[in-house]
Parts: sequence; C-alpha cells; structure tokens
Amino acid sequence: MTEQDNEYTEIRDEVAKLCARFPGAYWRGLDQLRAYPTQFVQALTEAGYLSVLIPEEYGGSGLPLSAAAAILETIQAQGCNGSACHAQVYMMGTILRHGSPAMKQLYLPQIASGALRLQAFGVTEPGSGTDTTALRTIARRDGDTYVINGQKIWTSRAEHSDLMLLLARTSPRTEGGKKTAGLSTILVDMREAAGHGLTIKPIRTMMNHNSCEVFFEDLRVPASNLVGEEGSGFRYILDGMNAERLLIAAECIGDGTWFTARSVQYAKDRQVFGRPIGQNQGVAFPIAKAYAQLQAARLMVREGCRRYELGENAGEQANMAKMLAAEASWACAEACVQTHGGFGFAEDFDIERKFRETRLYQVAPISTNLILAYLAEHVLGLPRSY
Ligand SMILES: Cc1cc2nc3c(=O)[nH]c(=O)nc-3n(C[C@H](O)[C@H](O)[C@H](O)COP(=O)(O)OP(=O)(O)OC[C@H]3O[C@@H](n4cnc5c(N)ncnc54)[C@H](O)[C@@H]3O)c2cc1C
Repeated sequence: MTEQDNEYTEIRDEVAKLCARFPGAYWRGLDQLRAYPTQFVQALTEAGYLSVLIPEEYGGSGLPLSAAAAILETIQAQGCNGSACHAQVYMMGTILRHGSPAMKQLYLPQIASGALRLQAFGVTEPGSGTDTTALRTIARRDGDTYVINGQKIWTSRAEHSDLMLLLARTSPRTEGGKKTAGLSTILVDMREAAGHGLTIKPIRTMMNHNSCEVFFEDLRVPASNLVGEEGSGFRYILDGMNAERLLIAAECIGDGTWFTARSVQYAKDRQVFGRPIGQNQGVAFPIAKAYAQLQAARLMVREGCRRYELGENAGEQANMAKMLAAEASWACAEACVQTHGGFGFAEDFDIERKFRETRLYQVAPISTNLILAYLAEHVLGLPRSY
C-alpha cells in the first residue's frame, strides 16, 4: 500500500473483507453464463456501500465522492467487478440535484435502502451513438402522461433495475436551434412498464456486463416522473458526468492495482532459466512503467474528487482522470498477461477475465477520442471538431 491509499482505510478494509466472500471462482462461474452477480450486489447494498452519496436525510450516509471512489476502487482491486451496480451509486445524483421535493422524498429513501434499484441509464441509441443530441426516442405529452416511442442500446443492467433514467426528446430539433434543447430526463418505472410498451433484449458481450437493447412502444409514464424542467434534460445528464467519470476512473485504478499485484507476485515466483522472471528487465520494466502510469492517474482522480467536493468545476480533471486511468489499467493488464505467459490466458487465473473487463473503459461511458475532443476544445481553446 502506498501513501496515496491511506484515505478511508477503514472503509477499504471492510469492503475488502466483503469482497473476500466473492472469490475468482464466483466471478468465473457468472462470466461463463453471463449471469448477474445478485448475491454480491445484495451484500454491497445491505452493507450500505451503494448509498454512500445519498444525504443522511434520505437514508444514505452522505459521504463525499472520494469515499465512493475508495469503495469502487477497492472492489476492483480485490478482483471483483463493480460494473454490475456502480450506477446505483451515482445515478441518483440527477434526482437529488434536479428532482422536485416530492420526487426526492418518494424515491431517494427507497434507493438508499436498496428497495428500489436505479441502475439503468438510457442515453445511447443505435442511430446516434456518441452524438447524443441526435437521439430519436420521443416522449410525447398526452394529458398527465408521456407516451414514449423509440429504442435505446447498451442500456446496462436493464434487466436488473427497477428504475431507468431515460433521456428522450420532448420537442423536435429545430433548424438553427440549440441541439441540446428539447431533451428531457424521465424516470421510468420498469416494473410497471415491462410488457406494457417496454421490451428488453440482452446483448451478449466480450465480458459479463448485462447490457441490453430496450424498445419503447407507446409506453405511458406519468408526467410527474419528469425530472426537473422539460427540455433541460441534457444539462442534467451533463451535470452528473464528472462524478461518473471520476468513479469509473477509480474503478480503473482498482483494476490496475489488481493486475500489478498479480504481475509482481508472479514475476517473483516464476522461475525460468533458474531465476525469477522478474529479474529480467524485459519483464520488470513493463510492470514498473504501467505502475507509474497508474499512480499518476490515481493523483488525477484524487485531484478531480478534491475539486468536485469543493464545488469547483472538475470537468478538466474528471475527463483526464477517466482517460488516464483507463489507459493505465489497460497498460497494467497488458503487462500482467505478458508476465504470465501462457497462464495469462488460462481462465482459472482470472487475468483474461479482468483483461476483458477493463478494456471497456476506453470506450464507455465515453470514448477516449471524445475526452480528447473535450480537452482540445474546452480546455485548450482549439477549434471545435464536431
Ligand atoms: C458494455 C457497454 C455498456 C454500456 N452501458 C451504457 C449504459 O448503461 N447507458 C448508455 O446510455 N450507454 C451505454 N453504453 C454506450 C457507450 O456509452 C457508447 O458505446 C460510447 O459512448 C460510444 O458510443 P458508440 O458505441 O455509439 O460509438 P460511436 O459513437 O459510433 O463511435 C465509434 C468510434 O468512433 C469514435 N468517434 C465518433 N465520433 C468521433 C469524433 N467526432 N471524433 C473522434 N472520434 C470519434 C468514437 O470515439 C468511437 O471510438 C455502453 C457501451 C458498452 C459497450
């Protein structure tokens, strides 16, 4: 453990103890079946780790973002996978910041207790991809309901969530008008909606991620489920992105920590040509280099959280943290596979599983190119590219 890891020692120790109940064999079994880690998520919920960001008045523990980062980082560093439930930690922020007092009172305590799972985030569509404002799912107001038609893709955990935060168009895109106008965030109660205009189809992916296609056909949702003001939904989604990016970055730091620990141990233990392989600089240097990347990214996550907690604009740091951490975890993963030679590919070592899992974070929830575009335009003042 380095000096940087000393924050939230008690929380980290407790999370690590919980994770020890879910060893590699548990995750390998689920991975083969592409099954959801229900027991693991239940254990995290009961221990209160998924509600740390919800204020105490709504039944959460009201901890700062860095505490949530420590939890998610530890989960990954223990070889577990928080992607099955990480959205429950941060998605409630949209309701907290923009929901009406009645909406907060209704939903936040139930989300805090785990009685309601808010795990599904419906933004990406097949036709729009990264160009979010080109989305075509429509929510048309009809009396005191919205009638929703359209399709989302890559909606993770849709089959294991009670609520979905949906971004849909409530008024058409007008020529010359602002691209972000007319988009609204609506809370969809998926329990009521299933079979009444909502269809979910899982997508089998390279790793066990429970991502789905979601189809809406004349789905009726009470108008009172609109979060905040109609037409301001894109801004609300943007508001939550810095927290999301910092928390995903913390998960990447955890992954990188796991890979590095495994690499170091194996490089010390494995004897070839009568000496430990780690004595060869060709083996040691990639591990050391990836470790340096990891520690630099860790500092950026920390700086992003610090600014976020002070209420300062953390956009630059959150984006850089996400990119650097995703690249660092990938470098650690690559070094780990190479260090393990053939065993890097053996399922029983868990390395190939974690390798597949950590690759995602260079693409989702935002791809590296889009972070670079943000930095180029908004931080460095270069001409807008799209
Ligand atoms: C496993 C998984 C889980 C996901 N979970 C969710 C979820 O829960 N909810 C949700 O809403 N979405 C989710 N996503 C979607 C994810 O956010 C998108 O896949 C991601 O934002 C990239 O969008 P896209 O796949 O449409 O790629 P595209 O937009 O088609 O882009 C393809 C490639 O082109 C690059 N590119 C595109 N435009 C530019 C440009 N102007 N400049 C430079 N490069 C560019 C991109 O960087 C990318 O590498 C998930 C995706 C995956 C794979």
